[in-house]
Amino acid sequence: MSDKPKLRVILCSPRGFCAGVTRAIDVVEMALKLHGAPVYVRHEIVHNKYVVDSLKAKGAIFIKELDEAPAGNAPVIFSAHGVPKSVPAEAERRHLNAIDATCPLVTKVHREAQAHFKRGRHILLIGHAGHPEVVGTIGQLPAGAITLVGTREEVETLELPAGRELAFVTQTTLSVDDTRDVIVALKAKFPEIQEPPVEDICYATTNRQEAVKAAAGQVDAFIVVGAANSSNSQRLREVAEREGCRISLLVPSVEALDFARLEGVASVAVSAGASAPEILVEQILDGLAERYSLEVETLTTREESMFFPLPRNLREPAPATP
Ligand code: SF4
Repeated sequence: MSDKPKLRVILCSPRGFCAGVTRAIDVVEMALKLHGAPVYVRHEIVHNKYVVDSLKAKGAIFIKELDEAPAGNAPVIFSAHGVPKSVPAEAERRHLNAIDATCPLVTKVHREAQAHFKRGRHILLIGHAGHPEVVGTIGQLPAGAITLVGTREEVETLELPAGRELAFVTQTTLSVDDTRDVIVALKAKFPEIQEPPVEDICYATTNRQEAVKAAAGQVDAFIVVGAANSSNSQRLREVAEREGCRISLLVPSVEALDFARLEGVASVAVSAGASAPEILVEQILDGLAERYSLEVETLTTREESMFFPLPRNLREPAPATP
């Protein structure tokens, strides 16, 4: 019989990679396959060091801005978060071989913002200042067309162009609950404001938060696997904390997990942000298994089947029919 203390582990499902992240990684791998190394990737393709390092090892070179990409045919890939319009325009001016790995659900938000702008509306973007997705969405339209709002409190002090119809869009990876509060405040202050026909917070963000909520009340501690700069991962940690989990940790890898924080804990739930690969979850479980006798169960709140095809310029030709 094991002399290790017992630990009940609830694995949240769904967790980890979403369809947009899977597609973005596939874009880099397919570009390497079709064009050979190196391929250039503007910004982290997704917010995860393990993913970035794996792609670097295969021949991807990560750059901050396009001017670091040399002239020639080597592909330059834009990350899943989307880019301001100035980026593809610059790539075209320099005749670079640009490949866009923007998640289709981010592109959907860009299109909504553009449609509102065409109708003469001023746009409010609910999101976090400085996040690459927010920079990309604001950069779809001329300066001043979009006002960023982060919190319910900020809605109170908003000053907007007079006499303009209003509309709002949101970042895809926000807290579902916080965003609802901001929207309620916006609608109270601007009753005529136009809202997205379908929510902008994406299915993956919503589903992962739902699973964390379902598990958080049942455990003493929560471990979210994800990077500190990953918005959706940060939100998962916050959701667990708000649901009353007294220890709620966001860790990029097992090496970063301070096991002393789990002292006296009898149960723990584990989830992973949309950019965190499953191998990192497995390594956390291995780390726990070295110290505890685990009883692992999976809590499934929803099945996912979302799939996004690769961009057209990366699809392999179908085999010829005889
Ligand atoms: S989190 Fe949502 S919006 Fe972001 S890449 Fe994944 S599916 Fe797309």
